Amino acid sequence: MKGNYVFVTGGVVSSLGKGISTASLAAVLEARGLRVTIMKLDPYINVDPGTMSPIQHGEVFITEDGAETDLDLGHYERFIRTKMTKYNNFTSGRVYADVLYKERHGDYLGATVQVVPHVTNVIKEYIIRVGEDGKYDIVFVEIGGTVGDIESLPFLEAVRQMIVEIGREHALCIHLTLLPYIATSGEIKTKPTQHSVKELLSIGIQPDVLICRSNRVMEPADRSKIALFCNVSKHAVISLHDVDSIYKIPALLKSQNLDTYICNRFCLQCPESDLSEWNRVVYQQEHPLGSVTIGIIGKYIKLADAYKSVIEALQHAGLKNRLAVNIRLIDSQNIEHNGVNSLRNLDAILVPGGFGYRGVEGKIISVKYARENNIPYFGICLGMQVALIEFARHVANMPAANSTEFMPNCKYPVISLINEWKMKNMQFTYNEDISNNNALIGSKKILLLDHIRSGMRLGGQICYISEGSLAYRLYGKSTVLERHRHRYEVNVKFLKAIEDHGLHVVGFSEKKKLVEIIEYPNHPWFLASQFHPEFTSTPRDGHPLFTGFVKAAGEYQRSLFS
Ligand code: GLN
Repeated sequence: MKGNYVFVTGGVVSSLGKGISTASLAAVLEARGLRVTIMKLDPYINVDPGTMSPIQHGEVFITEDGAETDLDLGHYERFIRTKMTKYNNFTSGRVYADVLYKERHGDYLGATVQVVPHVTNVIKEYIIRVGEDGKYDIVFVEIGGTVGDIESLPFLEAVRQMIVEIGREHALCIHLTLLPYIATSGEIKTKPTQHSVKELLSIGIQPDVLICRSNRVMEPADRSKIALFCNVSKHAVISLHDVDSIYKIPALLKSQNLDTYICNRFCLQCPESDLSEWNRVVYQQEHPLGSVTIGIIGKYIKLADAYKSVIEALQHAGLKNRLAVNIRLIDSQNIEHNGVNSLRNLDAILVPGGFGYRGVEGKIISVKYARENNIPYFGICLGMQVALIEFARHVANMPAANSTEFMPNCKYPVISLINEWKMKNMQFTYNEDISNNNALIGSKKILLLDHIRSGMRLGGQICYISEGSLAYRLYGKSTVLERHRHRYEVNVKFLKAIEDHGLHVVGFSEKKKLVEIIEYPNHPWFLASQFHPEFTSTPRDGHPLFTGFVKAAGEYQRSLFS
């Protein structure tokens, strides 16, 4: 077995920021020149998060190779440069689906199929597969959930076995816990951490490192006490106290030499980490030269995590423009009922992706408001579809234009499924553009799942951009790879009529088959894409479309005062 593995478990309570902590630590090791990647193991039974409500679980993050994954993979890609793949995230459901498939197929040759060893073996196979080609010096494996949960037991048992099999010189376990502060006694309490480690020990895992979340810096006495009672070296008890920016966490971990501890353990020779890029990000964040207010018009606004990557990408664009970005999450249904009042005082309007009709009319009203009032508009996926519908209805004389997702028999189905508008002379091969549809691990397809999810255009696909367009100026090139997650497309039958009224298609998929980017040149900044640029934005590099959009928000704000 090749590579070194760092397993990250969580204790005491959920939502301690295991994903961000793991990603930050991986960033420090990457900054030492090491090749790192991160996996997320989710204990729930859904085969992947693709069918889960964004209000419950947060956004579904799409990898370049077309997998619908946990939003933690978004944190990973924002912190390290390694691209996540469909192999970097799996759930209990995926594992059980694989085991049950093999059982029905007769692969177990009559054996009684059990959690140990059959389920745990598949978990180990999936983990080992990521490290086995020797591409990485360290594979981080974050185990979702909290130690003590029934669901995560098979994962922890697999981790225990892996530590034995690959040896402690190639495996290390980090446990993330909480040190609550009791105001009445003025003390940090270590008991929950001790109990959580005891729980982990009862499963057979001795943590090597404890990362302790707290709202204050850990005192030396607490560090000694935790080290002694939890059987961990004092240097491996790390204080992860609250900081005002997640971008400060890599430096916080480095300041306590956690990266050196890990390198020594794995006998990895490498230079000190160079965190200058992260320091620059923190500097940019702390020294804005102004601020803008941007409205995200959506329907999943009860949980900001539903728009995690969009919010992050706007913040990254703020860093690039040295502008603090205030984000207002606005309920599109509220606009339907109460009009555009909530859109006033915004410097720019963004309509993100979404599924289903609820709230769509409010989004169309928002596009119209942005278009007519010269307010910068950025539409993403559904946000592009509603922009096109709005233009068709109000400018291109196609009243009641709609998407067949919302109104199957509408008169002007300007957005519809490919097989609804496919023209004979297009010689369109469906699979050519829907090439990344199989995000499943291995060769086995889960038939039920395929039935529900068929026809989804998923993952990175090439978009060709017309020279002279706003998109071309922003990207500075004519070919880009961007990620998709949608089923409906612009119906090319109506394109000419719409373009004749001034909306431009400036981005196409291969062989000009599918619309990727639209612009309205008769407006200061009106651009919408069928793909999701938010998934490739990072704090260090930003994303050209978001950077351009936030800049336009600043210009719009200035124009009001000039
Ligand atoms: N519901 C639309 C479609 O399936 C848009 C999807 C999205 O915004 N991600 O095409």
